[in-house]
Amino acid sequence: MDTKEILKVSKVFKEGSEYIADCPHCQKLVGIEGELNEIKGEQFHHNGLFGCDGWFEVERNVRRVDSINELVRETKA
Ligand SMILES: [Zn+2]
Repeated sequence: MDTKEILKVSKVFKEGSEYIADCPHCQKLVGIEGELNEIKGEQFHHNGLFGCDGWFEVERNVRRVDSINELVRETKA
């Protein structure tokens, strides 16, 4: 998949001080730092040791799910 394309993230899971999303490029979990109202509509780069170098945007109407399993299962379904 083209990592230069900015893909949308529609669900996040809060874990500790950060939010977790399922990267739309590589389907690995990626941490997003910041409060929910700060990350909405923002674009992030999946970088770091396990990053795929892809960009994604947290949708403005992003939904916060109650479990990390829900996050992964729904995204891959
Ligand atoms: Zn990724």
